[in-house]
Amino acid sequence: MTVRIRADLDSLPGYVPGKNIPGAIKLASNEVSLGPLPSVVMAIAEAAERINRYPDNGSVELVARLAAKLGVDEDQVAVGCGSVTLCQQLIQATCTAQDEVLFPWRSFEAYPIVAHVVGATQVRVPLTAEHALDVDAMIAAVTPSTRLVFVCTPNNPTGTALRRAELERLIDAVPDDVVVVVDEAYREFVADPEVPDGVEVAKARWARGRDNVAVLRTFSKAYGLAGLRVGYLVAAAPVAAAVRKVFVPFGVNALAQVAALSSLDAEAELLARCTGIVAERGRVRAALIAAGYDVPETEANFVWLPLGERTAAFNEHCLAHKVVVRAFVGDGARVTIGTPDENDAFLAAALSFPR
Ligand SMILES: *Cc1c(COP(=O)(O)O)cnc(C)c1O
Repeated sequence: MTVRIRADLDSLPGYVPGKNIPGAIKLASNEVSLGPLPSVVMAIAEAAERINRYPDNGSVELVARLAAKLGVDEDQVAVGCGSVTLCQQLIQATCTAQDEVLFPWRSFEAYPIVAHVVGATQVRVPLTAEHALDVDAMIAAVTPSTRLVFVCTPNNPTGTALRRAELERLIDAVPDDVVVVVDEAYREFVADPEVPDGVEVAKARWARGRDNVAVLRTFSKAYGLAGLRVGYLVAAAPVAAAVRKVFVPFGVNALAQVAALSSLDAEAELLARCTGIVAERGRVRAALIAAGYDVPETEANFVWLPLGERTAAFNEHCLAHKVVVRAFVGDGARVTIGTPDENDAFLAAALSFPR
């Protein structure tokens, strides 16, 4: 007899991670290229001596630290095994099979997967012709079944970010019983002062009794801890409590908790790295535009090349130059900003691609 598995899983696409190819430069996963700070490695090594013990199930010290840094109460913070896990918990906490999760598309690849796994209905709202979130279309797509709206800003993979007026208009148009999650995985790379800090926007809403705005952040990108898996949600207390209820016990491991704390100690140094990446982003984008590429404005640590049908050929060309980019075949390529040398290698590949 064949084991009975949920039939709908047959149509579930797997998450496609960026490729690691020995000897090649990996610009495929929006990681920071520089390795962890020595102080962080030391904290992890010390904590490794105690890994016979379970981690702190409530990540109490990390939650307290984040709450203090963000100026919110401790019951307004929930940490998770990467913010992608918190995306799944948010859907689990708000949706059953009858309910809808609304998100822009193309956007973070995990949204469709986690929505499908939970069994919620996906509503994908196409981006504008400029590769940005289409605020009007997102507002128009809200129905009485909508329970959760993901607002990815800066948007992965296009890099575009919502400016204050647009973000506030979107949030204010969503009914206040529908959770709006501002996914700010790339917040630390934002340079445009018109792009607001989601936590500040959320706090202003909470002060007016609108508990439905929440913000996701991660230690994987700017803080360089992608391999350890730790992210956090900042939300009104009832939303954070619901998200905590659906967690997998001990999901945030002991090394991740310690590494996150020691990365907060070294925050200034890590954020200075981000400033360097932002400068490189400007240089790379300008060089691509000068070479005739269409590159949307980006506030993240990557650029988007909307190459359409030429994406697969571009991907092959970059691989031949030993540069791994992230290709969404038929749509475009996302290229992470690395070190200046890595970026030069990518630019050499891009500039020699027949156009
Ligand atoms: C990378 C990313 C995340 C989450 O990363 P984690 O490593 O799971 O914390 C969340 N949202 C977006 C848009 C991302 O690009």
